[in-house]
Amino acid sequence: MLDIQSLRAQFPVLRRRVNGHPLVYLDNGATTQRPARVVNKMAEYYLRHNANVHRGVHHLSALCTDANERARERVRAFINASSAEEIIFTAGTTAGINLVANSFGEAFVRPGDEILVTEMEHHSNIVPWQMLCRRAGATLKVLPVTDDGRLDLSLLPVLLTPRTRLVALTRLSNVLGTINPVRLVADAAHAVGAVVLVDAAQAVQHLPVDVAGLDCDFLAFSAHKMYGPTGVGVLYGKKSLLDKMPPWQGGGEMVRDVRFEETTYNDLPFKFEAGTPDFIGIIGVGEAIDFIDSVGMEEITARERSLTLLARDRLSTVPGLRFHGEAPESSSVISFTVEGAHPFDIGTLLDRQGIAVRTGHMCAAPLTRRFGVESMVRVSLAMYNTEEEIDLLLRALLRALLMLRG
Ligand code: PMP
Repeated sequence: MLDIQSLRAQFPVLRRRVNGHPLVYLDNGATTQRPARVVNKMAEYYLRHNANVHRGVHHLSALCTDANERARERVRAFINASSAEEIIFTAGTTAGINLVANSFGEAFVRPGDEILVTEMEHHSNIVPWQMLCRRAGATLKVLPVTDDGRLDLSLLPVLLTPRTRLVALTRLSNVLGTINPVRLVADAAHAVGAVVLVDAAQAVQHLPVDVAGLDCDFLAFSAHKMYGPTGVGVLYGKKSLLDKMPPWQGGGEMVRDVRFEETTYNDLPFKFEAGTPDFIGIIGVGEAIDFIDSVGMEEITARERSLTLLARDRLSTVPGLRFHGEAPESSSVISFTVEGAHPFDIGTLLDRQGIAVRTGHMCAAPLTRRFGVESMVRVSLAMYNTEEEIDLLLRALLRALLMLRG
């Protein structure tokens, strides 16, 4: 069992007050908080060891390079990739998806080809594909979502065609909380010769993620949503594919030799890491994974599932409340609207009581519209949330609704 108080003690921000109330942080889908050990590790490297990586022969450069590469190995093991060459450090999920849209797009997507996304994608797993389709003369297709917030898999055989080059889908929806059957989609995609990109931005902090088990070709995530630093992320890609893809950005680090006539490129993963990486952020990612491991992913998943069920149970007692997304396979994210109350007003009145939730379209406007609304309230949980915080949310929500509805 998790010792929740000692876990919370590792997050100094959780001790603060907001608007005169103890902070109840339920916006973990936007970004999680960071434990002190992640910040301290980065501070140690900034203050005591800092030197640029992969360049100098001097002591500090070697030290930072080793730490950077150890973090890469930590990430490899964390997602069960077969080689550290398959782990590319990026600026985040968005940057990873754009890398694939540009590089894979250039190598493999031709006029008349198709890219399949789902109706529950975040804008960052829609717009790069739209941009690619426009550039390449390809067509964007969309796998719809059912009323209870699952992918409508009955349409998958119709939407996958021999022209499908890539299927992009989220592992866990940032709006619905739905956990998608990625392996099933990957098997169907592979059967028509398409590759699969998984947006794991909302998965790596909640569930074990195993790229071999999922058999995905690409997988992207951001460190700031998994207790790590902002501005760093990871793109996993199968080596066999990455080898065939051209670099996306040019610069230092990604080259072997540069002549004005011709440049040769570095090996994986450096071919895709132009310029100085955020190596201290990367070291922070390694520390965040150590932190997650110290708690245990199975414990985290189980705790968040029971907190999610409790929160849904409590919220379902609120008159006029409608959940958006009620898939049996879901966790950690709950979105809803309440009749007669605008989500923005609910969010504002919750904030006055110290409770942080997200309101709006959650960067998934096509999805919120699919449910007939422009805006929702989202409660997104992390391992450090408590049963008491869910009670506080319920009481504060009832108070807010009393004020809004009179
Ligand atoms: N995909 C999903 C499912 C997300 O929730 C988010 C962040 N809200 C992103 C992609 C984008 O992540 P980032 O802004 O860190 O690149």
